[in-house]
Amino acid sequence: MEEIKKIAKELLAENKVQLIVGFEKGSANKVRPAFFTKPEEIDQLIYNEYCIHNIALYLKKDICQKANNLAIIANPNVVRSILQLASENQIAEEKIKIIGISFEGKCVGLLDFKAAEEFSKTQPKGIKPEDKALIEKIQAMPLEERFNYWVEAFSPCIKCYACRASCPMCYCGKCNVETNNPQWIPVAPHKYGNLEWHMMRAMHLAGRCINCGECNRSCPVNIPLNILSYMLSDFILDEFDSEAGMNAVFTPALSVYTSVDKENFIK
Ligand code: SF4
Ligand code: SF4
Repeated sequence: MEEIKKIAKELLAENKVQLIVGFEKGSANKVRPAFFTKPEEIDQLIYNEYCIHNIALYLKKDICQKANNLAIIANPNVVRSILQLASENQIAEEKIKIIGISFEGKCVGLLDFKAAEEFSKTQPKGIKPEDKALIEKIQAMPLEERFNYWVEAFSPCIKCYACRASCPMCYCGKCNVETNNPQWIPVAPHKYGNLEWHMMRAMHLAGRCINCGECNRSCPVNIPLNILSYMLSDFILDEFDSEAGMNAVFTPALSVYTSVDKENFIK
């Protein structure tokens, strides 16, 4: 932690950045995102086992967009998000400094994008055994049963949109769910309207999701969003040899089209 604080203080003191994005102590045992602009504020900067949230989310918010340059405390999830956002031309390398930190809290220093690409590979692959078992169960289902599984899985959704709000890749200024002419997605929670919402979100994130799990953590009714995003990422990797957030020069699989694209998966 002292190493991170030293780097952050120096960056602000030497005017190399205007803003540091990290965490500070919240209420009780909780932590909250924090934005530091002066070296003396850095004493409040913390990083502990509760700092799991993907703060790359803030890179598209006004506070970061208005800064000429900034640094962010970045674990492998945050680094993958940064690389993915850069590949989508949403952030520029010259504006952002990455202070890398492992999930275990070990500072790995300042990372340029090349080093960040290496660091992104340290994000653990795979999922919990119980999630893997569920995925295998879903994949073994006939199509109609699989469809019904997801209709039921999404039916408790209360459309709070916390999953969207917490996702660094959901950065559209106006989401389709907020358009009402035409009204693509019904406003009120409803079995099939919920399915439409989740299908739309899944398609928009296919090949772009970096599997940080933030949507899953934010859902108040425990919809297995991690299962869906993992299945999609796995599918995109298998079919298109494409993995989001591994480098800054990257075209997501579903953003390119060629006349020889595979169609065998369309059912
Ligand atoms: S895991 Fe969820 S929050 Fe993270 S990038 Fe994927 S869809 Fe977004
Ligand atoms: S966070 Fe959960 S309840 Fe809220 S919109 Fe997303 S899936 Fe639905």
